[in-house]
Amino acid sequence: MKIRFCEAERRVFARREKLTVSQWAGKYLIVQDGIYRGSPLRLDVSPFLRGPMDAYSRPGVREVVVCGSLQVGKTLLLYACLGWSMDYRPGIKMLAMPTRESRDRVVEKKLRPMLQGSPVLRRMVAKYRRENILLKDGTSIELATAESPSQRASITVQDLFVDEEDLYSRSGDSSPLEDFKGRTRSYGDFAKIIRACQPKGDESSSIWTGITRQVDQLMCYEVVCPACRHQHLMDVDRIVVPDGEADPRLIRSRKLARYRCPHCQYLWSDHARDLAVASGRWRPYVWTGAAFEPGPDISDARSIGFHLPAVLSRFVSLSDLAARRILAGSDDPAQQRQYHNDDLGMPWSPVELQTDVDRLLELRDPHLPPRTVPHGAVALTCGIDVQKRGFWYLVRAWMPTMASYVIDYGYLGSWDDVQALVFDTYYPVQGPDGSDVGERMPIWRACIDSGGTETEGVYTRTEEVYMWVRANGCGVVHACKGASRPQAAPVRWVVRERMPH
Ligand SMILES: [Zn+2]
Repeated sequence: MKIRFCEAERRVFARREKLTVSQWAGKYLIVQDGIYRGSPLRLDVSPFLRGPMDAYSRPGVREVVVCGSLQVGKTLLLYACLGWSMDYRPGIKMLAMPTRESRDRVVEKKLRPMLQGSPVLRRMVAKYRRENILLKDGTSIELATAESPSQRASITVQDLFVDEEDLYSRSGDSSPLEDFKGRTRSYGDFAKIIRACQPKGDESSSIWTGITRQVDQLMCYEVVCPACRHQHLMDVDRIVVPDGEADPRLIRSRKLARYRCPHCQYLWSDHARDLAVASGRWRPYVWTGAAFEPGPDISDARSIGFHLPAVLSRFVSLSDLAARRILAGSDDPAQQRQYHNDDLGMPWSPVELQTDVDRLLELRDPHLPPRTVPHGAVALTCGIDVQKRGFWYLVRAWMPTMASYVIDYGYLGSWDDVQALVFDTYYPVQGPDGSDVGERMPIWRACIDSGGTETEGVYTRTEEVYMWVRANGCGVVHACKGASRPQAAPVRWVVRERMPH
């Protein structure tokens, strides 16, 4: 028997071309705003978006987490994955947003124009509603907000798209993000999740925790110097203003800033930076707690994180970054947070927090009595700060690991008191179980500040310190002063035969 198919039937049965998200978006997604409005998406403008996009369409990848600055294309990325998913993965989808207000705005200004602007996607939509978009295949895109938990609890979804999770407010024990992710559980390994957000605030930021601690693999984008082809991770500290201009306004308006290649020292303009980004690539990294460092390549990673700082974006000039770095150098915490969150795509903790009284008190060892050496300490050191009258001092016990405990501090009135503290004081040492075993430990080395403070006597305080150390130091007490410039070694030793000047 011979069956003849009509043209439409043949189209339905035809083997579909399998495209990755970036290939699909370059063909079917029409840009809705900015200077490229109305043309198909051009990923040569933001080549780094290919990495997260194609990770999303890779079989076996269940979750993609993107932590990035403003203006790097996070929304575009999210919608490209949503469009691809509509085309290739029939099933209920959920787009999660912080508030009803943000949802209504985003749907009206971004999502709806994108769906209507793409012929492939336009054909799939049956009806737009406030809380969901019905699709002709009988499924839907649920438009959820972190404000309405009841809506979150009632729907099972296959593909989850999480927008701006750092703006989700938590109520009590429930985390909206975890609730949303829980909706995909019944799809198991078949579900896909993508999260894209700019970090807000400090290290507890949800998206920052996502890329640094929750994913199997973290990726950072390395660029290639157009002059010497050296490949490296960009470091904003290498942005320089060659003629030393310090006025942020002039730096910005005259586009004065350059990026110095760490290998050949060539100064990149914004255009050279764009070229460097164009030939760049994603590489496996890890976050050490202080910096991104190259890490192992985990080929079967099921969750992948991507870090996208503004320095990669051609919509952000090096001069804008240099200007904002200068503003962030001021004491204004708002400027500092903005620079870290918006431009570096990093969390930011205000420095005040680190000297916060409660946090200092948390560092106390409740089992160590005052003026007692902890078990296992190998040496005691003492620092003495010279005042106009008297001295402040602090005694530290050192462990073999270089960890240290402050065991004593206070004020001394005279040189005789200094003498007694350094040479005649023996601190009790704790036994292994915290008891006093009768062992005593003296101060091993002390430093006394010789930086000039005025005095009421005949000699300056500096002269007094030198004379006292010469007569009484015995190789235990050393005169010292701070350096005004960074030193190669933490401490440098010089012999003073006589008073300078
Ligand atoms: Zn170079």
